[in-house]
Amino acid sequence: MLNFDFHNPTQILFGQGQIAAITPLVPAGARVLMLYGGGSIKRNGVYEEVKAALSGHTVIEFAGIEPNPHYETLMKAVAIVKAEKIDFLLAVGGGSVIDGTKFVAAAALFGEEDPWLILKKGGANINAALPFGSVLTLPATGSEMNAASVVTRAATQEKRAFHSRHVFPKFSVLDPSKTFTLPLRQVGNGVVDAFVHVMEQYLTYPVNAPVQDRWAEGLLLTLIEEGPKTLSEPENLDVRANVMWSATMALNGVIGVGVPQDWATHMIGHELTALYQLDHAQTLAVVLPGILTVRKEAKRAKLLQYAARVWGISEGDEDSRIAAAIARTRSFFEQMGVPTRLSGYGLDASAIDAVVAALEAHKLVKLGEHRDVDAAAARAALELSL
Ligand code: NAP
Ligand code: FE
Repeated sequence: MLNFDFHNPTQILFGQGQIAAITPLVPAGARVLMLYGGGSIKRNGVYEEVKAALSGHTVIEFAGIEPNPHYETLMKAVAIVKAEKIDFLLAVGGGSVIDGTKFVAAAALFGEEDPWLILKKGGANINAALPFGSVLTLPATGSEMNAASVVTRAATQEKRAFHSRHVFPKFSVLDPSKTFTLPLRQVGNGVVDAFVHVMEQYLTYPVNAPVQDRWAEGLLLTLIEEGPKTLSEPENLDVRANVMWSATMALNGVIGVGVPQDWATHMIGHELTALYQLDHAQTLAVVLPGILTVRKEAKRAKLLQYAARVWGISEGDEDSRIAAAIARTRSFFEQMGVPTRLSGYGLDASAIDAVVAALEAHKLVKLGEHRDVDAAAARAALELSL
């Protein structure tokens, strides 16, 4: 196992009715900016419950954070934070709203420098951030319990991530009953995103870390078993609860300690979203099967373990077991309603040229756990998903 330094300070309030429990967690006398998206929270009761929980506080609202949140939009929130002397933020929504709030929290205290530098430096230059909490409405990203954020600069079609210990949420509410109103497309997206988060931390090379391996395999198996039930039994609260907790556990740091990490699928996927506005999980469903195939030699031991323990594949020689596991992965994503081929999104080989050019322009040509996923490897992976 590799050395690690693990710290996760986010308090989790899990279960039905937990929004009311945030009242004492927001500092008394705080001026609160409540950030949300396009209005789903007004159609499922979340808005009213949050407002009731904050009735003793001064609350200003910032609506309209779009999926794949835009830097341009978030900078408007930063201006409000400064003008209104806001001292606490509350994100109410999916990963985009929480990621956006993390950026606002850091940018508000960034001083006089251009806040885009936060994204350019990946967050290494953040020294402070406003405190914030979150009320999660879409299980997928793990943003509710991690220190990562992804922001898109619409003007330049750049989608960039940053990380900082200063942007862990103070608390997050996970009420699975609030996910009943999700469109099926977002339900499927959430399961696929969580699944790929586990794969980015699990499917690399062995480092004698059986604890992390078993955690990861447990999450993958849970997503494979429970994910399809969210589509067939959409009102089943237990299913929603288990998917929600799986998505949080997939990317709150626990399974990623002491092991190599990949993230090439995410980096390539970000370019697909920036260029063609595919949903985040849609890009992952396209890229992951190809990456696993192209990186087969470097990932061989873990691919065989994945085939045996996650998919129960024991027949055939090594290469056919690996091929079968990758095929099962692809069909699981399809089963969740997320197409795994570029053609499923109306894209052809010209999109591959554009993605590869963007990776080169953004100097993202040393990806993966061995830093050897270059432009040619990205091209080969995408060509397998035409
Ligand atoms: P999202 O972009 O936050 O939300 C997608 C859509 O779902 C929005 O239109 C939203 O509508 C709607 N929605 C959310 N909750 C709903 C509910 N309960 N009922 C009905 N509709 C609901 O989706 P996401 O997948 O959670 O976040 C994707 C973003 O996270 C991407 O930018 C991705 O790159 C990033 N990401 C971050 C991390 C991380 O570690 N921080 C990891 C992976 C991905 P409204 O706008 O109307 O609310
Ligand atoms: Fe993701």
